[in-house]
Amino acid sequence: MAAPVLFRHPSSLEHDTGSHPESARRIVAIERALSERDWLGWNVRLSPAATREQIGAVHPPEHIDRIESLCGRGGGMIDMDTLVSPGSYEAALHAAGGAVAVVDALLGAGEGASARCAASLHRPPGHHAERGQAMGFCLFANAAIAAQHAIDAYGVRRVLIFDWDVHHGNGTNAIFHERDDVLFCSIHQSPLYPGTGPASDVGRGAGEGFTVNLPVPGGSGDDVFLSHVEHVVRPLARAYAPDLVLLSAGYDAHADDPLAGCRVTDEGFAAMAASMRACADELGVPLGLVLEGGYELAALSRSFVATLEVVGADAAPPAPVVAVDPLALRAQERLAAYWPAPA
Ligand SMILES: [Zn+2]
Repeated sequence: MAAPVLFRHPSSLEHDTGSHPESARRIVAIERALSERDWLGWNVRLSPAATREQIGAVHPPEHIDRIESLCGRGGGMIDMDTLVSPGSYEAALHAAGGAVAVVDALLGAGEGASARCAASLHRPPGHHAERGQAMGFCLFANAAIAAQHAIDAYGVRRVLIFDWDVHHGNGTNAIFHERDDVLFCSIHQSPLYPGTGPASDVGRGAGEGFTVNLPVPGGSGDDVFLSHVEHVVRPLARAYAPDLVLLSAGYDAHADDPLAGCRVTDEGFAAMAASMRACADELGVPLGLVLEGGYELAALSRSFVATLEVVGADAAPPAPVVAVDPLALRAQERLAAYWPAPA
């Protein structure tokens, strides 16, 4: 197996959002923290731009054109939270391209491929972007584009996307809502922006049971998050048996984050990462990670580094031990309608 690979690109710094919390400072802080640790020994590569075909497998051409032309005209607001500058289109192409490159590094056969894990360190984030709508700081649905690429380019039959960003990944949720080849599972604070992702939203049609929403109240910390990962997400992953696990890794559930009210610590993120690494190892499938949110720079960079340290370690760390939280138990009971009970 090749060494873990991290994809980055300087275009992430050219998506100029001014004093917005989703700023280039996030990438600068993470990259500084990683370089101080010699990038943890990861293979660091420049992300390609995603092709129009790769993005177009998820978004209609009008959506791509709208973003390109708004950036070409000097930028502007898309909604109250989401703005673009002249450099945003290029940044968004590479953010999607980094996510696609993660899949190529994991599933491809070329030089440096067959990595056991890979990560995309980019902005803008992606999980709020719906097929035809940029929103919530997101332009293209990076993780969804990566999952679709795995299916289209490698014939992957099942992809698990687990989203631990504190906000519900409404974009990924909507894109795969009626499909069973992508199992989308999200833990998120509720109520909170964007207001979607109730436990009752389980997907529709062929996708019924393949959307798993795990809302948790504000104030939830390591125990609640980790309990859901260990006692809901992992059993679900075992039952689904995906060929690939992708993490939509946001760090705004951190106790220090200004945009939400959860209380996850650096150690909590490391423990969730350990749980997902153990999950992928147990299934014998690769693990990819795509950066989503996280707005307190110190907490974001510490927690991101802690995540990479765990997922990229030579030996899998011991799986965390955590009691079954009452909310996780309720989630297990709900899921029993679609999935076998955990052993
Ligand atoms: Zn978020």
